Amino acid sequence: MDIRELATNYIMNTYDRPPETTLYLTHGRGPYVWDEHGKRYLDFVSGLAVNSLGHCHPHIVEAVCRQAKQLLHTSNLYYTEPQAILAERLVKHSCADKVFFCNSGAEANEAAIKLARKFGKEYRHPDAHEIITAVRSFHGRTLAAVTATGQPKYHRGFEPMVSGFKYAEFNNLSSFADLITEKTCAILVEPVQGEGGVYPANAEFLQGLRSLCDRYGLLLIFDEVQCGMGRTGKLFAYEHYGVEPDVFTLAKALGGGLPIGVMAAKGKAAEIFTPGDHASTFGGNPVVCAAANAVLDLLTAEGFLESVAELGAYFCWRLLELKLPGLVEVRGLGLMIGAEFDGDAACMARLCQEKGLLVNCIGGKILRFLPPLVVTQEEVDAALMILQEACAQAGKA
Ligand SMILES: *Cc1c(COP(=O)(O)O)cnc(C)c1O
Repeated sequence: MDIRELATNYIMNTYDRPPETTLYLTHGRGPYVWDEHGKRYLDFVSGLAVNSLGHCHPHIVEAVCRQAKQLLHTSNLYYTEPQAILAERLVKHSCADKVFFCNSGAEANEAAIKLARKFGKEYRHPDAHEIITAVRSFHGRTLAAVTATGQPKYHRGFEPMVSGFKYAEFNNLSSFADLITEKTCAILVEPVQGEGGVYPANAEFLQGLRSLCDRYGLLLIFDEVQCGMGRTGKLFAYEHYGVEPDVFTLAKALGGGLPIGVMAAKGKAAEIFTPGDHASTFGGNPVVCAAANAVLDLLTAEGFLESVAELGAYFCWRLLELKLPGLVEVRGLGLMIGAEFDGDAACMARLCQEKGLLVNCIGGKILRFLPPLVVTQEEVDAALMILQEACAQAGKA
């Protein structure tokens, strides 16, 4: 049985996975994954910021197995313990008052978009439905979430897009202010743009958005799908900025490897939805919520997030110290790090893979590092050693 052949023949062609260079992974443990030949890789992709506690963390695996034996699924017609407890914990650890459970980042953003439209109608203006988002943003692939995504390449071929979205320049407050009209209901941004190339927001920018939203009665929505759940060294990235959103969305790392999404809201926004407004069959499934509770146990353990912040700073410092040829800029927050090159970064990512390090390349120029948050200094050193060798080899090629 040739797995690559099966995948190529029977799975739709939405991912660029050339069979010659695409790994077939069989198992993982901590920061490592293994391919079908038993070769080990240091995984600095982490399932795209999902496996933040490494692969198969025993505490998460145990929570999942225990819940799987008890109750796999009910429906949201009924209460379950893992869901109610997770909701309380998310609220206690954040600025939110209430949460809605769904299954992915795109779905969480869809929920936020629906909530913002209803909020706009009730509190601002009968036609307040427009949402201002940022150029270079990423909010998911469902029709409204991809429309919110400020990257034309993701819209091409799927027009007409959903109406009611406008795009402003990230980290440029007046660009957002200029687009506000009586039709606006919300501003939606990532505190750290991820898929767009790892661009952290400036504090003045997010604080300015907060003031604009307060002045005009708009909802400030943060997409924390990638930068949330400890990735930046705080549980939520907004904590770095002294700004609280009215609504924020989570997914990726929250389920420790299982699919979950959350849309959280505070104040008046938390009371907008009423029965029948929104729903999800699998949203807040007991097994997934048990996994998320185990993730929260680990992330909120004494000193854990501080160590993420320290390792992130160490990573950036060492990365700069290497003086890699062609390195233009290192950006990031905590362990969400981007390195921009003026050379072929895709080639470097391929060479890293050959040498046993998985790293993601964005747009041919940027290497995105999303190591598991449980990575050690020695593993960071090992990754940087591989990167240095890959760089040297790419320079010669
Ligand atoms: C990955 C991502 C999404 C989409 O999440 P899915 O689970 O793939 O739908 C949305 N927003 C941000 C910031 C992301 O990084």
